[in-house]
Amino acid sequence: MDKRVLLEIKNLEKSFNSDKILKGINMDIKEGEVIAIIGPSGSGKSTFLRSLNLLEKPSSGEIFFEGSNILQGNIDVHRRKIGMVFQQFNLFPHKTVMENLCLAPIRLKIMDRKEAKNKAKNLLERIGLLDKRNMYPKSLSGGQKQRIAIARALMMNPDIMLFDEPTSALDPEMVKEVLNLIKDVAKEGMTMVIVSHEMGFAREVATRVVFMDDGLVLEDENSEEFFTKPKNQRLRDFLSKVL
Ligand code: ADP
Ligand code: MG
Repeated sequence: MDKRVLLEIKNLEKSFNSDKILKGINMDIKEGEVIAIIGPSGSGKSTFLRSLNLLEKPSSGEIFFEGSNILQGNIDVHRRKIGMVFQQFNLFPHKTVMENLCLAPIRLKIMDRKEAKNKAKNLLERIGLLDKRNMYPKSLSGGQKQRIAIARALMMNPDIMLFDEPTSALDPEMVKEVLNLIKDVAKEGMTMVIVSHEMGFAREVATRVVFMDDGLVLEDENSEEFFTKPKNQRLRDFLSKVL
């Protein structure tokens, strides 16, 4: 049976001042897909990801999320179904780990305090960081902070998670613990879009890989095909540099 399309992106364009950064992106993202986006720095990967939950407002084009046009509806309703994990963790520095996890679900009245705390405890236990629940982010390692940021996104039971270079700010020895957590979440069936320079990870975990260059999608293939038979010349050049 065909999987449900979660996100449908049609001819998405984004300009900053007179610079066109996204030049017409088309993509369908189906339930359960794990999509890796790779491409050179400055090609528009972050801008694309940020457009999907309207952290950037598209200049033109359409984005349908579960069938409804997010440029017209109430964005907060959509945003809470989209988990976002950033390179720089973006935890609240003046809140404890537990507070970081519970803040949004309580404030948005998705859970009461007790429910939120219980769910947070379960998630922290699962990622092996329950003993850090009363600590502040500054006393955690980068890998721990990023795992907490992922748990915070999971608190909201999102339908899809977006990761923007989740391991790029980490010391090398912490990359694996974060990738392993992302892999686990993917295995449970979470739909994901991951911008990453980790080619091995992309190849292993992604069901589809997308190559972006200069504001366009130049290749969009299942990961086996993408890495073994790249068709686009610019992708071939890129892979020859990074593999
Ligand atoms: P990538 O994530 O692929 O490295 P980005 O999406 O971050 O690329 O950036 C693509 C281009 O858009 C870059 O040239 C960047 O300078 C520009 N850009 C991104 N955000 C803004 C902004 N808020 N204002 C102006 N230019 C921006
Ligand atoms: Mg980026």
